[in-house]
Amino acid sequence: MTPADLEFDQHHIWHPYTSMTHPLPTYAVESADGVMLHLADGRQLVDGMSSWWAAIHGYNHPRLNQAAIAQIGKMSHVMFGGITHPSAIALSRQLVEMTPAGLECVFLADSGSVAVEVAIKMAMQYWQARGEKRQKLLTLRHGYHGDTFGAMSVCDPQNSMHSLYQGYLPEHLFAPAPQCGFDEPWNREDIAPFAALLAEHRAEIAAVILEPVVQGAGGMRMYHPEYLRQVRRLCDETGVLLIADEIATGFGRTGKLFACDHAEIAPDILCLGKALTGGYMTLSATLTTREVANTISNGEAGCFMHGPTFMGNPLACAVASASLSLLAENRWQPQVADIEKQLKSALLPLAEHPAVADVRVLGAIGVVEMRQPVDMARLQQHFVAQGVWIRPFGKLIYLMPPYIISPAKLTQLTQGIASALSALY
Ligand code: PMP
Repeated sequence: MTPADLEFDQHHIWHPYTSMTHPLPTYAVESADGVMLHLADGRQLVDGMSSWWAAIHGYNHPRLNQAAIAQIGKMSHVMFGGITHPSAIALSRQLVEMTPAGLECVFLADSGSVAVEVAIKMAMQYWQARGEKRQKLLTLRHGYHGDTFGAMSVCDPQNSMHSLYQGYLPEHLFAPAPQCGFDEPWNREDIAPFAALLAEHRAEIAAVILEPVVQGAGGMRMYHPEYLRQVRRLCDETGVLLIADEIATGFGRTGKLFACDHAEIAPDILCLGKALTGGYMTLSATLTTREVANTISNGEAGCFMHGPTFMGNPLACAVASASLSLLAENRWQPQVADIEKQLKSALLPLAEHPAVADVRVLGAIGVVEMRQPVDMARLQQHFVAQGVWIRPFGKLIYLMPPYIISPAKLTQLTQGIASALSALY
């Protein structure tokens, strides 16, 4: 990688949420394996991000590589209209088997945001088919569901700057974010504002959509499973559909296979993505019940109105299927439990630091919330100098390492945060 390459990158390539006129620095990665990112300049970083919740088994995994290579040798892609293939069937079997009970019908699409669009469209078509005009969604403040318009319309209005798109973005209903933390005693008042909104608008609401138990990109907030159980109960009472967005939380990250398992509930529609392929490539799945699927199919359109070009991409399905087979070997459970224990012992004491507002840990997620928004470029520079890859946002410095991380490498990550607090605050 030459200086001219980096110069080109700065001047011509958008990165996530960055400015073209004042881009933040980027670090060139040439390869990655296990939990290590190898920079083009020879430096090596312990990865604390799993490439945004995705690379749960680590990089360059022999079993996932083999699945991709074997599939390439057969076909990388074939259209899904009128055609099926073994990798989509194997993957969908595994998904139906491992997800909460009742989710039987699988829609394979391109990315997390598209999985959310698909879920919203399913809910709309469901009510349309039942002859009811229900076009509102009820969701939680501080949520995050993706960057496409439907998904964005249910993200936290302030975090995702709804004001920029006013008039174009559908307007939905927002309940306050849950206040009762995961480990706190349940406070039944916590669900009251949500229950009131649902009762007031029940005839217009097609579905509730939320991230179960952990709200990710909208604030890394961990709430009480009883809140989710109450949401399920209220949806049942009012006949409103429940969409669980487990794109970030799915596949073991919170200590249960799915975050819904903390509350022992099943949604009517489930969105999966990110770790689905072990972080190898983009793929999502939206699962629903036979009842929702049949109702949609018997409606005016006679089908579900969605079918992207790369639907059920064989390469992505083959890797995802291999990733789920690795998960089924169940090493993730002790791995995530050990990560949680170590994160708690290393991060919770940081709550004493005057610049820190809160520290919370659940499963393989550790969050240090600062009192003030952080200077991302400066912090990142510090982390890279310490040999770790941690990308904070807003007031949040957080870790979600690959499940295979060793205790020593995890110590490097937690020490990276502790040293940043002492050096920069
Ligand atoms: N839902 C949740 C809960 C997410 O965390 C994300 C991604 N951060 C998305 C949806 C969107 O997924 P993608 O970026 O793959 O479109």
